[in-house]
Amino acid sequence: MTIEIEKLTYKEPAPIKDIENPFESMMERFNIAAKVLNLEAGVYEYLKTPVKQVITSIPIQMDDGRIEVFEGYRVIHNDTLGPSKGGIRYAPDVTIDEVKALAAWMTWKCAILNLPFGGAKGAVKCDPSKLSRVELEKITRRYTANLMSVFGPDKDIPAPDMNTNEQTMAWIMDTYSMHVQRTETAVVTGKPLIIGGSLGRKEATGRGVMICTLAAMERLGMNPLNADVVVQGFGNVGSISAKLLYEQGCRIVGISDVNGGWYNPNGINITKALEYVAEHKTLDEFKVGERITNSELLELKCDVLVPAAKEDQITARNADKLKCRLIVEGANGPMTADAEPIVFGRGIRTVPDILANAGGVTVSYFEWVQDKQGYFWSLERVNRRLERAMKSSFEAVWETAIQHNTTLRIGAYILAIDKVAKTLKLRGIYA
Ligand code: NAD
Repeated sequence: MTIEIEKLTYKEPAPIKDIENPFESMMERFNIAAKVLNLEAGVYEYLKTPVKQVITSIPIQMDDGRIEVFEGYRVIHNDTLGPSKGGIRYAPDVTIDEVKALAAWMTWKCAILNLPFGGAKGAVKCDPSKLSRVELEKITRRYTANLMSVFGPDKDIPAPDMNTNEQTMAWIMDTYSMHVQRTETAVVTGKPLIIGGSLGRKEATGRGVMICTLAAMERLGMNPLNADVVVQGFGNVGSISAKLLYEQGCRIVGISDVNGGWYNPNGINITKALEYVAEHKTLDEFKVGERITNSELLELKCDVLVPAAKEDQITARNADKLKCRLIVEGANGPMTADAEPIVFGRGIRTVPDILANAGGVTVSYFEWVQDKQGYFWSLERVNRRLERAMKSSFEAVWETAIQHNTTLRIGAYILAIDKVAKTLKLRGIYA
């Protein structure tokens, strides 16, 4: 254990990597937690190795008549706790290692939130901005058809992620239902309300970020009414996190999307920002203060930084330039493993992704339960149960971190790995 803590307190400068491998980044944290837990070698191998990795080709007739072949992935990292659960992202630069890391994070997230799910993730290598709606629908349906033997309401349940949305989930649900010849709403979550979605699902990840931010502020003696917050990314997670923190009285001094951001030390009206983006799609011409780049945004002086765009934003290159007290990770993997000791060493606390953004999968679980029961909950019930789940997991992670004298991230990994390992021991190895 001494070695791990030394690593975290960071004596030697970490080598700066040119290319981040998100799976390796996940494994660096996994390894620290596994050592603290004294995980036996066989269990370590079991939990590190994905249960299933599918690479599938998706041939599509494009609008102009050409045939184009896309590559799709689905990785089931672990299904010890139950059917696997995880989103699907569409991105031109997605790799199988990224999907493997995201799938593993889902395993740990579900364990921390006490959900009866394992972890999975899927992706299609494509650029949705260059595809028509018809082409996107064809890709989604063919991807689903190719994965019929993987997906299932009691086997593997997808959800939205980057560049996929409620409509994508509706196409998946319909394609799956056509193949099994009955309507099977519980096969995906994040669906439109009218076809079995849950109230509060769209806002759930941002709401979880807000709940974790307030819980961490309370623990650190920070007052939300006196806090400057910077949010990177203004999509589903970033915009809702900003909105809910704004409603809690925080001053949102910086926001951004893929093209850059805005800084205003007097605070940005997030209601207006949401209205602006609903109309114009980007923040480009919002003109609410000083125009800044995304790297400048990350280095703004603030109390809370919420990276809610994509992975690998806080690295060993910029970790020593951050000027916040608290980081709450809305995105998956926004901080690289080599940045972690630098950030920790500078006294900045981080609520890790596998806790902070788990509100989405928690309400996905509520949606799955409602679909299975055919009985739908009020928004108040969804939000109340989400708040209870997030707060109690936050406290469990905090206590674990204190108990092991480590970071909240390693505390979260310890909690999650311990739970999955104990379940695995009880279930035993089938042979
Ligand atoms: P999204 O596509 O709705 O929004 C992404 C936002 O980030 C957009 O505003 C985009 O312009 C911006 N962005 C993209 N690249 C950027 C860059 N290089 N620099 C700055 N901004 C950039 O996606 P989302 O659903 O909000 O997901 C964001 C992150 O949160 C991802 O890491 C995703 O895996 C994670 N996450 C999402 C959910 C969910 O329920 N949507 C749940 C858990 C985790």
